[in-house]
Amino acid sequence: MKISVLTMFPQMFDGFLCSPLVQRALKKQIAEIEIMDIKEYVQGSYRDIDESPYGGGNGMVIRCDAVLPVLNRIRTEQSHVIVLTPAGNTFVQKTARRLMTADHLILIAGHYEGLDQRIIEEADECISIGDYVLSGGELPAMVIMDSLIRLKEGILREGSSEDESFENDRLEYPQYTKPAVYEGKEVPSVLLSGNHEKIRIWRKKESLRLTMRYRPDLLEIREPDEEEQEYIRQINNE
Ligand code: SAM
Repeated sequence: MKISVLTMFPQMFDGFLCSPLVQRALKKQIAEIEIMDIKEYVQGSYRDIDESPYGGGNGMVIRCDAVLPVLNRIRTEQSHVIVLTPAGNTFVQKTARRLMTADHLILIAGHYEGLDQRIIEEADECISIGDYVLSGGELPAMVIMDSLIRLKEGILREGSSEDESFENDRLEYPQYTKPAVYEGKEVPSVLLSGNHEKIRIWRKKESLRLTMRYRPDLLEIREPDEEEQEYIRQINNE
């Protein structure tokens, strides 16, 4: 999989590209990441990258004649072009699962007041990482790349993403590690019992408890099965 990012601030990706996850993906040739500095492509031309908006108003808008020539140069039949914008569909785990199979993703990061609408119209889809406004699309691009890459085969230990939050429309159960007791706080004894069935049941119930408390909306996306309904009854009676 190749991911190209069109940005005005490529230096923001320096730390991300050094992260263990990305380094593993690059070394194993699971992903190729290309950070493209839009400024380089307009350097020497008479054009600026941004201009004040037609119709008046605050801030600057990224010009389509700065971005579209770069996009058209790298876009192929295999490319899937994503514009990062607060106006896009919200990025969720299922989006990551869908996009991880793409051959070539192109992520376009805006800045300032945003991108000229004619750039947005060239996208295959628009993605937002949540209902808040950031100063640029660089952090959203890194969020998306991180979540996709970690799902790729060969990055995490096999099966380690199966129980993770959102994979099954539930939050993950609480995790503990050594020491078994810390300043009087004990790890639940069932986790030390070695009884796999009891551990499975405890995890399922605690996953439900967290989901009911923090994300009850997930229980509407996938209705509880019979086993889960029983645990929900038990939790409600505690
Ligand atoms: N004026 C725009 C609006 O009100 O929707 C906001 C522009 S924002 C300051 C600048 C850039 O940051 C956007 O073009 C986009 O690329 C990126 N951005 C900001 N918040 C985002 C979010 N929640 N999801 C994805 N991209 C975002």
